[in-house]
Amino acid sequence: MNTNLEWLQEIDGSLWLTENDRNTLKISYKLKEILFSEQSPYQHVMIVDSYDFGRMLVLDGVVQTTSLDGHIYNEMITHVPILLHPHPKKVLIIGGGDCGAAREAAKHPGIEQIDMVEIDELVVKACKQYLPDVSGNLSDPRVQFIFEDGIEFVKNRQDEYDVVIIDSSDPVGPAEALFTLDFYASVEKALKKDGIIVCQSQSPLFHQEILKQTFDHIQNLFPYAGVYKAVVPTYPGGMWSFTLGSKVYPIDANSKQVPNLDTKYFNAEIFQSCFLLPQQMKNLLK
Ligand code: SAM
Repeated sequence: MNTNLEWLQEIDGSLWLTENDRNTLKISYKLKEILFSEQSPYQHVMIVDSYDFGRMLVLDGVVQTTSLDGHIYNEMITHVPILLHPHPKKVLIIGGGDCGAAREAAKHPGIEQIDMVEIDELVVKACKQYLPDVSGNLSDPRVQFIFEDGIEFVKNRQDEYDVVIIDSSDPVGPAEALFTLDFYASVEKALKKDGIIVCQSQSPLFHQEILKQTFDHIQNLFPYAGVYKAVVPTYPGGMWSFTLGSKVYPIDANSKQVPNLDTKYFNAEIFQSCFLLPQQMKNLLK
């Protein structure tokens, strides 16, 4: 196994992963072992076992999801848009290679088809085998895996999906274009007349410009736009943001029934309260 990677160090006989969030902020995790490590055509894919977060998916040295808190992110990016839609049948997930969002979407019995468009097949292969806490070894027949660039995929779709979930990595490398107005405009076309989009819009503390830009793009394209938050300790800053756009249905969690979804974080109270934003975020999004 290749441990000769810039984000791995051996210190006093222990193995450490250091994520270089930026040149002024690095986060280090002590590792028990490396379970999978391979280079794909798009990125370096690793599954490691850490002392504090359990197993983690690491792409190009950046932690994407962990056994400890992957469910928080995946439940929030999935159940909120799906429950805001009165009768979702066809869901598209772009990215989401850890399979956590698809696993959560599959908990809704009314959903008939879940298309998961992930650029990198190796991420899915690694997560299904070595990250079952997040992927659930997903094998629901409603989930179709499509291994191609999400940007190209949505360009050819029209009036097809009830809910589109953009579960992307950070806006660098292959995910950079997943944060552009052109891409969101293609998604708007791919949605049915009453469709809903959600995307992860990064940290409201460390990436204010991305959150603001994402919200502005969605607000330009959809009659209803909203932002909600969750705390995901894996991501730098802890608090994470999600931006929603809806063509017809108002973003009103209070009027919705929440079925039992066998979740660990999401529930009716979280659904209603996640739209309550700190003043700083309200000022940013004004
Ligand atoms: N929850 C994670 C987070 O917020 O950091 C991200 C989850 S998931 C692992 C992100 C996935 O997006 C990766 O597997 C990556 O390969 C995929 N991805 C990046 N760019 C893409 C693109 N243009 N089309 C489809 N998938 C893409």
